[in-house]
Amino acid sequence: MSSFLLEIVTPERKAYAQDVNMIIVKGSEGELGILPNHIPMVTPLKIAPVTIKRDRSEEVIAVNGGFLEIRKDKVVILAESAELPGDIDVARAESAKQRAEQRLNGKRDEYDHVRAELALQRALNRIGVAGR
Ligand code: ATP
Repeated sequence: MSSFLLEIVTPERKAYAQDVNMIIVKGSEGELGILPNHIPMVTPLKIAPVTIKRDRSEEVIAVNGGFLEIRKDKVVILAESAELPGDIDVARAESAKQRAEQRLNGKRDEYDHVRAELALQRALNRIGVAGR
C-alpha cells in the first residue's frame, strides 16, 4: 500500500511522525480524505479528531485547530495541541467541559462566549477521542 509521511507539530512538541496510508481531517469546508500524491495545498482545520489509516489499522488524534499543509514530500498538521487517546486526561477534559458550559449559561459578553464555545469544543473533542 502506498504511503506518505504525516507530521503533527504543536508549539510544544512533534506529536506524531509516521508513514501513513490515508488521513481524514475536518477542514474549514468539510471533511477531507487525503491519500498519497495529493496536490499541494493549505487549509485551516477545525477542532476535531484526525483519523489516520496505517497498515490496515486506524488511530485517531484529538487535534485542536491549526492548519493542514500538503507538501510534495509530506503532510504537516500544525496545531495548537494534539493528543493521542492514551495522552488524554478525561477527568481534566470533563472539568474543562463543565467550566465551559457554566460560562455559556452565564451572562457574559460576546468575547467570553466565543472563548467558552472553543473551550467546550476542545473538551468534547478530547472526550470523544479518549472514548474510542
Ligand atoms: P484546560 O482548561 O484543561 O487547560 P484547554 O483546552 O484550555 O484545557 P489547551 O490550552 O488546549 O487546554 O492545552 C494546553 C496544553 O494542555 C496542551 O499541551 C494540551 O495538549 C494539554 N491538554 C489540555 N487538556 C488536556 C487533557 N484533557 N488531557 C491531556 N492533555 C491536555
